[in-house]
Amino acid sequence: MQRKKYKYIIIGGGLSGLTSGFEFNLSGENSFKILEARDRLGGRINTQNEVDLGATWMHYNHSTIFNLLEHMKLGKFEQYNTGESYYKAYMNAPTQIFQASADEFPSYRIKGGSSALIEVLDEQLKDHVELETVVKKIAEHGNCVVVTTNKGEFEAEQVIVTVPPRLASTIEFLPKLPTKLIDTMLSTHSWFSHAIKVGLTYNNAFWRENDKSGMIIASSEVITELYDHSNAEEGKFGLMGFANEQIRPLKLVEQKEKILSYLEQFLGSEVYDYVDFQLKDWSKEEFTTGDIGIHAQRSTVYGNLVFQKSYYNGKLHFSGTETSTIQGGYLEGAVYRGVSLAQELMNTTSNR
Ligand SMILES: Cc1cc2nc3c(=O)[nH]c(=O)nc-3n(C[C@H](O)[C@H](O)[C@H](O)COP(=O)(O)OP(=O)(O)OC[C@H]3O[C@@H](n4cnc5c(N)ncnc54)[C@H](O)[C@@H]3O)c2cc1C
Repeated sequence: MQRKKYKYIIIGGGLSGLTSGFEFNLSGENSFKILEARDRLGGRINTQNEVDLGATWMHYNHSTIFNLLEHMKLGKFEQYNTGESYYKAYMNAPTQIFQASADEFPSYRIKGGSSALIEVLDEQLKDHVELETVVKKIAEHGNCVVVTTNKGEFEAEQVIVTVPPRLASTIEFLPKLPTKLIDTMLSTHSWFSHAIKVGLTYNNAFWRENDKSGMIIASSEVITELYDHSNAEEGKFGLMGFANEQIRPLKLVEQKEKILSYLEQFLGSEVYDYVDFQLKDWSKEEFTTGDIGIHAQRSTVYGNLVFQKSYYNGKLHFSGTETSTIQGGYLEGAVYRGVSLAQELMNTTSNR
């Protein structure tokens, strides 16, 4: 089969890969392809039944993603936190009740859920995307790079790898990458790949009616964090948070039972009247974590210098939130790195 040739190949259709593609598009650069292993775009952004099972919040200083949202005409809204909230510092500590006051530095959510951003990027980039295309090998061939996938070979002048570095280390690189780079890839925790997210939707926000915010923070309990997850229009109601990793070995039915009986203690028996219960364990995601598993140390030091360099004589580049020198790990880092790397590559090429 004949190889398809492009100026740029982007490996991974998560937020980083898509924002690089968006930047190419904006500059009139049409010769690029985004190869995505999953049957959907978004990677660690995944809203299902109104619940953000992946990324949710942006902080007040996340200006790059705020600019992107504005450009895409997408709104944002503050995380709801009005009413009685609960905090338990450690296993035998008493539960403290507090009122989360109006926050000077609030967290924001994307109107319509985080996947709304992916949907608009998809709309603009769909002609450039190949789904269910798993990259297995990346090889330097003279002046170009050949990318081997389950759907054949692709050729490009420049390749951008946005797969989380630890998982990307399982791709075959020819010639082999420097040991220092491989060691850094292996020791870079893929942010939140350890997380178990839980989402519940309801016909009404019964906790709000009882002057409760829906916020519970208790690192030693079955639910370590919980927040109100009703939509911006306050027409759909829900709770969303993180489950303790200790429940990982349990069957779903047991996990559910433990979670609901814990939440009942704070929010009442109405927690059982859910419309939908969802649980997503990111450690089991083939294209976030893979067989290589979660890194033992959850370091959040991102943007290592080895990721700022290019390889294969300037033809191979590493991107993705973990490679970002600004707000690495966050959505902000993914957008910052996606946009800035695409601009850098276009500037370098046009100056040649
Ligand atoms: C549970 C959870 C909660 C989070 N909460 C927040 C939050 O509230 N706020 C925040 O700022 N951030 C949060 N994050 C982090 C945020 O999701 C990431 O920063 C961001 O989505 C990363 O985007 P990315 O493009 O760098 O990587 P990814 O989204 O991981 O994209 C990489 C892409 O590469 C694809 N891929 C993998 N292997 C291959 C292969 N071999 N071939 C082709 N494609 C491949 C993947 O399918 C994926 O689409 C959270 C993450 C998780 C998992």
